[in-house]
Parts: sequence; structure tokens; C-alpha cells
Amino acid sequence: MCNDDTVNELKKDFHYTLSKFSHEIRNPLTLINSGLQMIASAHPEVEDYEHWDDVMDNLSYVRELLDELSAFNNAGRVKPEATDTGMYLKTVLSSVKPTLDYLDIRLVTDIPNDLPTLMLDRIQIRQMLLNLLKNAWEAVPVPGGQISVTAFTEKSGICINIQDNGCGISKEQLASIFQPFFTTKENGTGLGLTISRQVAEAHHGSISIESTPGQGTVFHIFLG
Ligand code: ADP
Ligand code: MG
Repeated sequence: MCNDDTVNELKKDFHYTLSKFSHEIRNPLTLINSGLQMIASAHPEVEDYEHWDDVMDNLSYVRELLDELSAFNNAGRVKPEATDTGMYLKTVLSSVKPTLDYLDIRLVTDIPNDLPTLMLDRIQIRQMLLNLLKNAWEAVPVPGGQISVTAFTEKSGICINIQDNGCGISKEQLASIFQPFFTTKENGTGLGLTISRQVAEAHHGSISIESTPGQGTVFHIFLG
């Protein structure tokens, strides 16, 4: 049996290795990216080559994966600041509105003005909300997709509900969706929900889910 100190040391080693690894991959990736950009500006005709877009897509997928690995690695370490949660939520939601308009997805919100001020790591909470919103917009039908975000005060914290009318999640899959690298998407990383739960828990909060296949899903987030 490992004692707590050994577990903490192992965790520290794991985080260190992961961040070193991501860094070592990111450097040559940046060089590959700028090399490809140089090729494209010297020979613009390569952009017409049928596999060019695949190469660029794969490159941005690897970058997204690295960004998510970094977020996964940092999610437990919180830098909290006093935050007017109502104003903050409205700002985050208006930043995704143009994307949802572009995708033809309806966004319905109900965020009261008198939500409490909480100590939040705004970057991490934003990342959590964007992960949940992105999952919702990837699940909804087009046309006819709708996402609703509501918030209310609960004890000394807040509850946020993010509901979609998307494909829903089967009972078997519900058991795995918070596991790292579990994904049902061709280009998914499977890290979004793992990170989101870590972020919520690091804020003395929680995330729970209700889903009905074929009807939709609602995520309940509590931040304390
Ligand atoms: P990814 O989005 O990269 O697949 P996530 O951790 O964000 O990874 O989500 C894991 C899986 O949970 C998704 O692949 C999907 O099957 C399921 N999922 C999450 N959110 C929703 C949702 N709102 N509606 C339907 N399925 C969802
Ligand atoms: Mg996701």
C-alpha cells in the first residue's frame, strides 16, 4: 500500500513528466507549422493539393490535444479572484454567441443580476464552460439545435445548468464520459469533461448530469 506522501510524490512526478513531454512535442510542432506556412507562401499551389487540408487539420488536432493535456495537468491548481458571477457568466456567454449564431444554434439564457461574488479562477472556469458548451453544440441537431444556460444562487454558491436538445448519452456511456480519453467523436480528445470535473472540484464544486438518448442532456454545475 502507498501512503499519502508517496502518492503525492508520484502525482508530482506525473505532472512534471506530462508538462515536459507536452513542451518537447510543442517545439518541433511549431517548427513544422512555420515550415508549412513558408512552403505555402513560396508555392501557393500546394494549398490546392487534395491532402493539404488534411495535413493542416491533423496539425491543429495535435495542438488542441496538447492544449487540453496542459489544461488537464493544471486543472487542480487554482488562482482564485473575487468574481461577480452574474457579470462573468454573461461575458463568457456573449463570447460564444457569434459561434452559435454562425452554426445556427439558438442560445437561451437566464442569468440573474444578483448572483453572488465568488472566488474563481476565471481562466479555468471559462475553460470548463466552453468545454460544456462545445459538447452541447456538437450534440445538437442542425437546424433546430438549442442550448439553454440558466443560473441561480444555491446556499453560498451558484448552480449553473447547461441544457441541450442533442443526441443524449446512453446509460452505458454515462458511466465512462468523465474518464480521461473517453470519446465517441472521430476527432475528440476525451479530455473536456475530465478537465471540467477537475476544475469544478478544485472550486469546492461538482458536476452532475442527466441525459435522455434522443432528447438531450443537462449538466448541473455547482460552484461554492
Ligand atoms: P470529447 O468532446 O473530446 O469527445 P469530452 O470529455 O468533452 O470529450 O466528452 C466525452 C464524451 O461525452 C463525448 O465524446 C460524448 O460522447 C459525450 N458527451 C459529452 N457531452 C455531451 C452532450 N452534451 N451530449 C451528448 N454527448 C455528450
Ligand atoms: Mg468535448
